Amino acid sequence: MKSKLCLLLIVLFSGLIHFKAVAFAPKKKAIALIHGGAGNLSAKNISKEDQELYLKSLKNVLEAGFDAYKKGKSSVDIVEVCIQLLENNPLFNAGKGAVITAKGEIELDAAIMSGSDLKAGAVSGVQTIKNPISLARTVMDKTTHVYISGKGAEELARENNLEIVTQDYFLTEKRKVQRENILKERIKAEPNQNQNLQPTEKHGTVGCVAIDMSNNLAAGTSTGGMMGKRTGRIGDSPIIGAGTYANNQTCAISCTGHGEFFIRYGAAKTVSDLMLYKKYSLSKAANQVIHQILFPVGGTGGLISIDKKGNYAAPFNTSGMYRGVLFEDGSIEVAIFEQVNGF
Ligand code: ASP
Repeated sequence: MKSKLCLLLIVLFSGLIHFKAVAFAPKKKAIALIHGGAGNLSAKNISKEDQELYLKSLKNVLEAGFDAYKKGKSSVDIVEVCIQLLENNPLFNAGKGAVITAKGEIELDAAIMSGSDLKAGAVSGVQTIKNPISLARTVMDKTTHVYISGKGAEELARENNLEIVTQDYFLTEKRKVQRENILKERIKAEPNQNQNLQPTEKHGTVGCVAIDMSNNLAAGTSTGGMMGKRTGRIGDSPIIGAGTYANNQTCAISCTGHGEFFIRYGAAKTVSDLMLYKKYSLSKAANQVIHQILFPVGGTGGLISIDKKGNYAAPFNTSGMYRGVLFEDGSIEVAIFEQVNGF
């Protein structure tokens, strides 16, 4: 009887310890998140093989991000490294494989921001620079400006020996076919239209937010914009405060989605402002912007965000968003479809 009681106490006590360990286990600290665009993504319209390809690519990018983190690189470096890899991967709508304008050209936009000093660099309408994110960084580091477009941006790239490519480098068969199909659909719907058309909701922009060993935040975004966009159209991605923002006092954010809405509602800066002025948590602020502010007005898309403590949020109001999170211990989670446990 005595030994039975003892056994019962041991079981109860070890159960309690286990419960405490589970209930009070500290949350893992995130050090970087990436996205590869949000949109109408479902297991029905992406083959199993393609899902694997996307997930593997996201994982590889975050592994490179972890290498950079371990080497003590700055958060701006981590963001640049991760986005360069996403730009070089034709699966995503940035750099190689970017979407095409209604006239069949490539026009790329990118921005990067450092949360420690609020320095930022952005470019738009770039047509021959292999990695627009590096050009955005050049604007931030080597000029007194924040935003340079078109010819001036290309000139700056040449002066700084950034890699130059021809338009053919960016154009993939998949995007050409997508553009043809979209133009055919539009002409069927409105036979009298010319090619100055509304952009369609084909998402796929890339972005990264990161924190470094000195606890500085950074954010970056790079995109081809929206398929079939008008020549000269600029989305939210390169606009500081709309698609990209970082401030050590609050968080770092990179958005993806229907850019016109993200611009009009100042999406990224609103997340930061809700934290700064209303003392919202990162998760509450990020969810408010995506679900309560943008969704009701038709602003489809999502965002990735991280704060100084390594808390993160990646809400989206579409059926999916290509995304990944890297933790301080090197572990990685990647996902495409609905959110599980807030990711
Ligand atoms: N936000 C981008 C733009 O409007 C597109 C996207 O995220 O897919 O240019």
